[in-house]
Parts: sequence; C-alpha cells; structure tokens
Amino acid sequence: MLLWVAYALLLGIVFLFGACVGSFLGVVADRVPRGQSIVRGRSFCPHCHRELSPRELIPLVSFLWQRRRCRHCGAPIPWRLFFTELAGGLLAVWVLLSQNCTFNSTFWVYLAICFALLAIALTDLASMLIPGGLIAALAVPVLGSLLLPQSPGLPSRLIGLFCVSVPMLLITLAIPGSFGGGDIKLVAVCGFLLGWQRTLLGLFLALLSGGAYGSYLLIKDRRNKSRHFAFGPFLCGGAFLALLYGQDLINWYIGLVTGW
Ligand SMILES: [Zn+2]
Repeated sequence: MLLWVAYALLLGIVFLFGACVGSFLGVVADRVPRGQSIVRGRSFCPHCHRELSPRELIPLVSFLWQRRRCRHCGAPIPWRLFFTELAGGLLAVWVLLSQNCTFNSTFWVYLAICFALLAIALTDLASMLIPGGLIAALAVPVLGSLLLPQSPGLPSRLIGLFCVSVPMLLITLAIPGSFGGGDIKLVAVCGFLLGWQRTLLGLFLALLSGGAYGSYLLIKDRRNKSRHFAFGPFLCGGAFLALLYGQDLINWYIGLVTGW
C-alpha cells in the first residue's frame, strides 16, 4: 500500500516537472520561429501584455483556476497552452513508465530527446517551420544516446542517418516543396538515433498517421486544393514510438512472419 502511494507521488512529481517543461516548450514554439529570445522576457498575456505573476504560471492549475481567462483583461487563454502542458506531463510519465520507473541514464537521455521532439512538433504546428536551432537541440541528446547500454551499432545508425533523409531530399529536388528542409534534417537526426530498422518503422508510422490525417482533410474540405499541413508532428510521433517500442514491434513482426 505504502509502495503504491510512493509510486503515485513519484509519478505526480514527474508529471508536474514534465508539465513545467511543456509550458516552457510552448513558449519556445511561440518565440523561436519569430527569432525572439526564449530566456529573456517573462511570459506575458498576449492580449494586454501584462507580465504573468508566479501564481499565474503554475501549469494546468492556473489555467483551470482562472477559468481559462487572463486575470487582468479577461481575454481567453487558448486551449493549446493547456494541452501543451498536459502533453509535457504525460510524456515525462510515459518515458518513466517505459523504463520501469527507474531514473537511469536511458530515462534522462530519452526524456531530453522526447522533449526536443515535442518542441519540434509544437513549433511545426504553430508556424509550419522546423528551425535549425531545434534540430541542434535534438542532436545533443541523440549524440548522448551513443553512450547508453542498449543502443544500435554505429553502422546501423549511419544507414539510418541516410536511408530516409536522402530519398526525401531527392524527391524534394525533383518535386520542389514536397518536403521541408527541416523535415529532412529531422529524419536524418532521428535515423542516427534509431538505427535503420527502427527508422523505417518510424517512417511507416508517420506515413500511416499523416496519410490518414491528410485523407481526412481532403474528405472534410474537397474544395481546398492546397493540402499542405505540417508533417513534422507525425514524424516526431513516429520517432517517439519507434524509440520506446520499436524493437518490441519489430520482434513481434518477425515472430509473426517466421511463425515463431
Ligand atoms: Zn491579459
């Protein structure tokens, strides 16, 4: 019983930590594409420009407590901020559970990678851009993953680096505008992280989910011919699942095919 309480408390703290990081990543997604500093300048209400006090900055709680309105001018706070904080918290708990609730080196490296992926997904959603700075922020923990005990070999990583990014680059050279430069760099870095097998799996998951979303957009609005939507979030989601569950999924599939 006491153990469960301790676990719940631990997960609660990790969730709150993740929600705080998520809140910060929301600011990153908002400011980086506009070239604004992410460390200088306190958070402010975009409507009345009043700086937020510490008690207005508690993730999730402030939003609900203030009934999603600015305390000064009453302007509504977008739901996007709430879901960004929720996503950060859930992500941290998810990564911890995937490591059987141990704070090992894999947990910290994976968490940094997942937060970078979340920042990239949010920025791409907000601005259809993946800035180079965020790719660099992802590359740092990806390099750190070289030191982890369970890690793909260097040959697999090097193939992963090129096996999807180069075809995407060639397609974009042939048909300009097919993929953004940021998407291609993202896929290259994720490929180096995952090794080639899990890279292909991640791409498969991204195409499956992105394709489903694209079809939904087409059906919903037949007249709208400009079918551009941010593909980065799907790539990030695919990379996330491939990172945490890729090997299990691949083993399961091989077992299915070979009849084991
Ligand atoms: Zn305000």
